[in-house]
Amino acid sequence: MRDVMVIGAGLSGLLAAIRLRQAGLSVALVHKGRGGLQLGQGTVDVLGYRPQRVARPLDELDEFLADQHRASDIAHPYAHTGADAIREGVGYLAELLGEDYLVGDAEVNVALPTAVGALRPTAYYPPSMADGVVSLDPAKPGALRAGSAVVVVGIREFKDFTPELIAGNLALNDLPGGGRLEARADWVSFPARDGEVDSTGLNIARALDDPARRGALVDQLKALGRPGETIALPAVLGHEDPTAFADLRSQVGSPLFEIPVPPPGVPGMRLNDRLTRIAKEARVEVFLGSNVLGADSAGGVLQAGVVGTTGHDTHLKARAFLLAAGGFESGTLELDSYQKVSETILGLPLAIPAGELIHDTWAGQQPLFSVGVATNDDMVVVDPATGEPVYSNLYAAGGVLAGAQRWDEKSGEGIAVASAVRAADAIISNLAGGQR
Ligand SMILES: Cc1cc2nc3c(=O)[nH]c(=O)nc-3n(C[C@H](O)[C@H](O)[C@H](O)COP(=O)(O)OP(=O)(O)OC[C@H]3O[C@@H](n4cnc5c(N)ncnc54)[C@H](O)[C@@H]3O)c2cc1C
Repeated sequence: MRDVMVIGAGLSGLLAAIRLRQAGLSVALVHKGRGGLQLGQGTVDVLGYRPQRVARPLDELDEFLADQHRASDIAHPYAHTGADAIREGVGYLAELLGEDYLVGDAEVNVALPTAVGALRPTAYYPPSMADGVVSLDPAKPGALRAGSAVVVVGIREFKDFTPELIAGNLALNDLPGGGRLEARADWVSFPARDGEVDSTGLNIARALDDPARRGALVDQLKALGRPGETIALPAVLGHEDPTAFADLRSQVGSPLFEIPVPPPGVPGMRLNDRLTRIAKEARVEVFLGSNVLGADSAGGVLQAGVVGTTGHDTHLKARAFLLAAGGFESGTLELDSYQKVSETILGLPLAIPAGELIHDTWAGQQPLFSVGVATNDDMVVVDPATGEPVYSNLYAAGGVLAGAQRWDEKSGEGIAVASAVRAADAIISNLAGGQR
């Protein structure tokens, strides 16, 4: 019997599993595939919009939650975790990963250029994006400020990045402190393999892990850069070597930053790979490619997770269970053609907003996305109708939680880390107290 079975290896499952293991508990991390982190931008969004752009997420949290409370009868995950768990969660994640992977501040958002030339708020970001930071606090200018000159450079063999579009739009943004950037577009050529005309981002990143391949890119960037310009490139500057970007930047000799591209995103893969390595080094027992189909229970307590394995199902016993299996995007929540939403792994009761779940206006929030499992402040899953625990030893974290509009709010990773840390700490303390 393990101490804890964690279902799902996205950001919330990986982080909770590492924390539980570091506390000395035995942990089985069971997942059918990789999580959203792998597809993402490598940033940690705590709270980006409410709906206006947020400059100081934790200072604005109370007002945000009060607005949420007025608009919906479903509690937002941050109402359970509070600001302290957000601070603790992102701090813990940043410390685990180290400054080669993540820098920033949960208290202060910055804006980063996107692949369509907009400015997107986030709290933590890879150091390879630092030269592209626009401050949201007019009193503290970021690396890019009014009048800064940026050359957005496309790689001819990489088709998912259009420098003319990005540069054109970037120059149209009114900066928070007033003024605009100056931006132009240019191109280099860098086939991941000799003669290749169509290279994937991952293959280019892997090629740049090899120091001997970097020179060709450096020479072209030096030739096109003008004095005082900051160079922006697609986020493909190295995959496994965390020093590849710093080496490229120092060889080019000018400010340089990565702009995330549509999924799959290399910056997200870097974080995912590093967290997975940390989990394995900590001796978390990882069951990759394992679908959890259900669970055995008795007397209001979960006993074992049922894992689909070849030939027969395996019943994995544990003292506590953490459901970190994501939401609609990972198949844990499902909507049928009668607009009935279900939780597909444990058949849990869901918190569902009143009224139409999907409305037909293109813009604005869809109530459907706030459907999820309800919890108490220890992240124990409760029945929304009674507020009572469904199982005394079942916790939940991340995208499966009810009450958030993660994409609109830009709160997905913040919720994942805050709820993971909150749930892990509750499990640690309850198991130490002899919960069965
Ligand atoms: C493409 C993409 C872009 C995003 N962009 C943003 C953004 O810009 N800003 C933002 O705030 N948020 C964004 N998000 C959301 C954010 O990444 C997630 O909310 C956050 O990472 C939380 O993920 P999670 O750990 O809860 O679940 P996920 O990352 O979804 O992981 C779920 C895990 O559960 C596993 N699983 C599911 N079902 C089972 C089962 N039956 N048995 C075993 N394992 C199972 C999956 O294989 C996976 O490992 C994005 C997500 C995606 C996918």
